[in-house]
Amino acid sequence: MSDFSRRLIAWQHKHGRHDLPWSGADPYRVWLSEIMLQQTQVATVVGYFERFLVRFPDIAALAAASQEDVLALWSGLGYYARARNLHRAARIVMEQYGGQFPRQPEQIQQLPGIGRSTAAAIAAFCFNARSPILDGNVKRVFARQFGMDGDPAARATEERMWQTAQALLPAAAAMPRYTQALMDLGATLCTRSRPRCDQCPVAASCVARAENRVAELPSPRARRVKPNKSARYLLAWRGDEVFLEIRPPAGIWGGLLVPPEIPPDAVAADWCRRELGLNVAFERELAPLRHVFTHFVLDMRALVCRVQGSANLAAEAHGRWVKAGQLAGAALPAPVRLLLDAALSSARRADSDIAE
Ligand code: SF4
Repeated sequence: MSDFSRRLIAWQHKHGRHDLPWSGADPYRVWLSEIMLQQTQVATVVGYFERFLVRFPDIAALAAASQEDVLALWSGLGYYARARNLHRAARIVMEQYGGQFPRQPEQIQQLPGIGRSTAAAIAAFCFNARSPILDGNVKRVFARQFGMDGDPAARATEERMWQTAQALLPAAAAMPRYTQALMDLGATLCTRSRPRCDQCPVAASCVARAENRVAELPSPRARRVKPNKSARYLLAWRGDEVFLEIRPPAGIWGGLLVPPEIPPDAVAADWCRRELGLNVAFERELAPLRHVFTHFVLDMRALVCRVQGSANLAAEAHGRWVKAGQLAGAALPAPVRLLLDAALSSARRADSDIAE
């Protein structure tokens, strides 16, 4: 075993994280946690993870659920393709593997939404596979520990890191603890800013530390300016219900409930009558909201309208009416939830102004 692996394993035994709710060798729990933890902090994930398991305690329950129910439990976590892929993968495990999670990293990686590092983590934790992980935290540790220059997202740097990762693996029996140790080191000591090198179990061999380059490594990624987009949404209320559409599966917010988007050059009332068969009276426009996605920035505006009359069959072909009291459990993306909360509180303010 390499000195690096030996030190890490001993450190994890004493100082690593042992109380994470997904610790253990159950592939369903490990898989779910790995997917939720992509782009998301542990503190945020814990509550979602526990609620998800109460509702879908095993792969069979997840596979049998509707996509909307899965997305409703994911609401607020973002990156919803993760939930859609998780759901599809559960159905594949039931249909193609008889409900048994596949054991080989190569098989696991064939499931929707599972990349090489995630497949390796599941296989290492649950089946002691000698397969290396290489997520963002591990790349940071390697860049510093071994003094590896180059954008960690670039193919050549990544390839060097995969080779290093493979060469460092301990024996199969130690794979779960070693894999957890790497994750713990990146999450607790070798952090992006202000790493705690004085407590690091591999400080003695750390190139970045010896060369005083800890702040320089990993090399910064080439920065890209995110393009700006804008969208106008129609919040059409009928009594205490709001009209929401189910987004098509591809694209942002696929499968989630979102208010209709009005084309930029359309007159809202005319568009509503023509496209949804709804007669609406404009009430107010909400203050714009900005949401930053991975690849672009979205400025959202919302027009609050009230439906006049009762003819709305055409609208129902596009989506559904959701009561204000049911929005908390609905499959809404977080920014849409904010828009709806803003609409409800502005309506309450308007009501109290009238009352005064
Ligand atoms: S010594 Fe510091 S920079 Fe090097 S691996 Fe440890 S925590 Fe990271």
